[in-house]
Amino acid sequence: MNNNTPKKAKLVIIGSGPAGYTAAIYAARANLEPVLYEGFFSGPPGGQLTTTTDVENFPGFPEGISGPQLADNFRKQALRFNTTLIQDDVVEVDFSRHPFIIKGKKNSHEALSVIIATGATANRLDIPGASDGEFWQRGVTACAVCDGAMPMFRNRELYVIGGGDSAVEEAVFLTKFGSKIYLVHRRDKLRASKIMQERALNHPKIEILWDSIVSEVKGDEIVRAVEITNLKTGEKSVRPAAGLFFAVGHTPNTAFLKGQIALHDNYYIQVEPGTSRTSVDLVFAAGDAQDHVYRQAITAAGSGCMAAMEAERELSARGLVL
Ligand SMILES: Cc1cc2nc3c(=O)[nH]c(=O)nc-3n(C[C@H](O)[C@H](O)[C@H](O)COP(=O)(O)OP(=O)(O)OC[C@H]3O[C@@H](n4cnc5c(N)ncnc54)[C@H](O)[C@@H]3O)c2cc1C
Repeated sequence: MNNNTPKKAKLVIIGSGPAGYTAAIYAARANLEPVLYEGFFSGPPGGQLTTTTDVENFPGFPEGISGPQLADNFRKQALRFNTTLIQDDVVEVDFSRHPFIIKGKKNSHEALSVIIATGATANRLDIPGASDGEFWQRGVTACAVCDGAMPMFRNRELYVIGGGDSAVEEAVFLTKFGSKIYLVHRRDKLRASKIMQERALNHPKIEILWDSIVSEVKGDEIVRAVEITNLKTGEKSVRPAAGLFFAVGHTPNTAFLKGQIALHDNYYIQVEPGTSRTSVDLVFAAGDAQDHVYRQAITAAGSGCMAAMEAERELSARGLVL
C-alpha cells in the first residue's frame, strides 16, 4: 500500500469506461478539474468496449464503430477538457471522513466528491477455443443484446451457456436472429424464474441441452462448431454453430468498496432510484457497477452524465466549489 501524501481534488472518478469518461467530460466542463483513475491491472483504459469488435448501437455512428475506437474517442474527449488521467487501480477508499481518501497502488487523493464507475466484468468460461486469440469475438461473446444482430449470426445455429434468467433472456432475444438456439445447461433444471423457464421451454426455436457443457469451440476464421459433452453419459458430439454466447453472470468491480457504501446482495452499488446518489453523501455511482439491468455503453454514459451533474450541484449547494 502506498503512503504518499494525498493530493487534493474536487472530484475523483474511479473507472475508465463510458460512464467514467462521460462523467469526466461533464465535470471538467463544469470546472471540477476531475482526476480519473483509469485502472491498470483491473483492465485496459476504455473498459469493456475494448474487448469487443463492432459497436453498432451507440448513437452517432450510423456505420458502427469499433469498440476500442469508441473508447479511445471518449478518452480523447475527456482529455480535451483537462481531465487528469491516472493509470492506477484504486485499492482502498475511506468514506468515513470528509474529504474522502482514495488510495491507488501508487497514487492517493483527498477528494471533496467521488464518482464510482468501475463497471462489471462479464464472466467467461475457460473453454478450449473460446479465449482471446482463439474464437473470442470471432463468434464467441458475452453479450447477446450487443452482438446478436450481427450478420454472422443470422439464420445460423447459436449456443447460449447458462441456466439463470439472463441466459433465458439472451436465448429468447437471439431467436430473432438465429435459426435455432441451444441453451446449454450443466444441470437437469434451470435456475431461472418460473415464468422465464416457461418462455424457454415453450419457444419453438429454443432447445435446452440438459446436463451438458460446451467442451470445445472449433472453426477457421470464425466459429463453425461446438463440441458438447453430456456430463451424465460422457457422450461427446460436434455440432454446427456460428455463435457461442456466455450468459453466466457478471461480477461488479466493487470489492474495494466493502464496508464503505451500501451494496446489493449481488455486490452492485445501491443508488437512490432515478439518481446516482449512493448511501454516502457526495459519493455517486454510474455505469454497470450500479446497473444489473441494462448494462449498455449508452446507459453507462448517460448515468456518468447524471453523476457529474449531481456532484457539481451538490458541491455548489454546500459552497464547497464556486
Ligand atoms: C463483449 C462485450 C461486448 C459489448 N458490446 C456492446 C455493444 O455493442 N454496445 C453496447 O452498448 N454495450 C456493449 N457492451 C456493454 C458495455 O461495454 C458496457 O455496458 C459498458 O462498457 C459499461 O461501462 P462502464 O463505464 O460502466 O464500465 P466498464 O466499461 O466496465 O469500465 C470500467 C473501467 O473501470 C476500471 N476499473 C475497475 N476497477 C477499478 C479500480 N479499482 N480502479 C480503477 N479503475 C478500475 C476497469 O479497468 C474498466 O476500464 C459489451 C460488453 C461486452 C463484455
